[in-house]
Amino acid sequence: MNDVMEATREPATKAATDFDAIVIGAGVSGLYQLYRLRELGMTARVFEAGSNVGGTWYWNRYPGARFDSESWTYGYSFSQELLDEWNWEEHFAAQPETERYLNYVTDKFDLRRDIQFRTTVTAAHYQEAESCWKVTLHDGSQHTSRFLVTAVGVLSASVLPRIPGIDTFKGESFHTHNWPKAPVSFAGKRVAVIGTGATGIQAITEIAKTAGHLTVFQRTAQWSAPLHNSKVTPEEMADIRKNYADIFAKCQETVGCFIHAADPRSALEVTQEEREAFWEKRYGEPGFGIWMGNFRDVLMDREANKLMSDWLANKIRARVNDPAVADKLVPKNHGFGMRRVPLESGYFEVYNQPNVKLVDLLETPIESITPDGIRTTDVEYEFDMIIYATGFDAITGAFDQIDIRGVGGVSLKEKWADGPVTMLGILVDGFPNFMMVMGPHAGLGNFPRAVEYTSDWVTALIRHARDNGLTRVDATPAAAKDWTDHVIETNEGLLFTEVDSWMTGINRNLEGKQVRRVMRYSGGHPAFRQRCDAVAEGGYRELAVS
Ligand code: NAP
Repeated sequence: MNDVMEATREPATKAATDFDAIVIGAGVSGLYQLYRLRELGMTARVFEAGSNVGGTWYWNRYPGARFDSESWTYGYSFSQELLDEWNWEEHFAAQPETERYLNYVTDKFDLRRDIQFRTTVTAAHYQEAESCWKVTLHDGSQHTSRFLVTAVGVLSASVLPRIPGIDTFKGESFHTHNWPKAPVSFAGKRVAVIGTGATGIQAITEIAKTAGHLTVFQRTAQWSAPLHNSKVTPEEMADIRKNYADIFAKCQETVGCFIHAADPRSALEVTQEEREAFWEKRYGEPGFGIWMGNFRDVLMDREANKLMSDWLANKIRARVNDPAVADKLVPKNHGFGMRRVPLESGYFEVYNQPNVKLVDLLETPIESITPDGIRTTDVEYEFDMIIYATGFDAITGAFDQIDIRGVGGVSLKEKWADGPVTMLGILVDGFPNFMMVMGPHAGLGNFPRAVEYTSDWVTALIRHARDNGLTRVDATPAAAKDWTDHVIETNEGLLFTEVDSWMTGINRNLEGKQVRRVMRYSGGHPAFRQRCDAVAEGGYRELAVS
């Protein structure tokens, strides 16, 4: 499909070297940023490592990859025409549909001609004398721009586990993020999946349908709940279309920009019957309601969280036939919702199939990957295929892969070595004219909703600079410190900060990622927008400009 679509419109050529703005990444954020820069009448170039648009939805083509935000809350909201034209096929679109959507957007707004594919940015150095950025590509070529906007995603630097012998395996092996475009068959094969995050849970459920035998290597069990996906009927689509304004307005009101808002009641103030009836209802409904639309204190209060976790543990136990296996699938080291809740479509029942085995790595850790398979402390398993669903160097990983240097040659990676320092999650002091669409310290959640706001804010700042003849806009160290302190404050006392996950900056496969850090703003999107609006409405007084 990619190649057909690539042929329809010409991507950018390499000839031009100087631009008003360079954007890194042609995923959900980069595409929208390009559209907005074009509106300003600016010359812009997007550099994209993939051979087509889509970012996350280009790379993650593993079996079972799909939204767990409602499709109709995930699309762009900026164009009425686009909303009128695009019909979502499923309430939670699978990766191919989303990739098609992003290609449709790209072609509708003729974005491809400013995107250079198969191009990796290796370095970006600020040039003080010219107040511009010099960007170096993988082939050594260099380009300059006044503004540099990163649209590199928060989960785009994939990580293989640190397991001895990983290079010796003779069979097929894939990381879910770098899944091949050609179909992969599991029929008759002995398949291993390492990792049971949101990705692993989607992939395992799908692969179990056709694999000869599937062995799942689980280190940490997950509080997963049903997705309840279904097709969007024409009547439903007509209804959605009529209600888009309300849908997007509702998303703007919630902390994570999802359609689901927390119930104002405490889990502790209702009777057990009411509580359980409410949870039963949420468990039976599509999407993130069980996580984002739970009682207001389920994610904040230890006792409420324990009640919810115990309730959900019983749900898991009821779905798995073998009580010993069920017990392994119930998380013991963290409460419900403290990690990102993976939504599933028959995941737990997979372990009732005769062709599926669960290996609990807490009991028998992996010792090595061998030429023939995986050796744990008790046995060597033989495999034809090993799938690594082992996650990402999240949030800062994609930045670290580029040698980004600001004023005085200061490296961004070094500046952030003890944790990110940003202003509004968008600017970094000492890195003038550098803007991040969804950098660290941004509020995470329903991604495109946050992207549209952040990218509009970036665009307004660039317009302000242009209209006022400013060649340099930078966060002051004081403003960056204020914001960083505030972000840390928003995380204080929250239960999820006590748990290891990518959201707390932990990756056990990477040096330097073993200490929990504040990676994201936790004050909720409405408050985030208020703070950003205040800076813009105040004429950007917190910035150092010249
Ligand atoms: P993840 O949540 O970081 O999960 C990685 C998994 O690999 C964990 O189970 C981890 O175990 C395991 N692992 C890593 N190294 C290991 C090792 N050396 N040995 C054994 N196990 C190892 O990554 P992910 O599942 O790719 O998901 C990341 C995020 O992407 C999600 O939280 C979500 O935000 C996003 N996502 C979204 C969707 C969607 O929208 N539908 C789908 C997929 C992913 P430990 O937990 O013990 O470290």
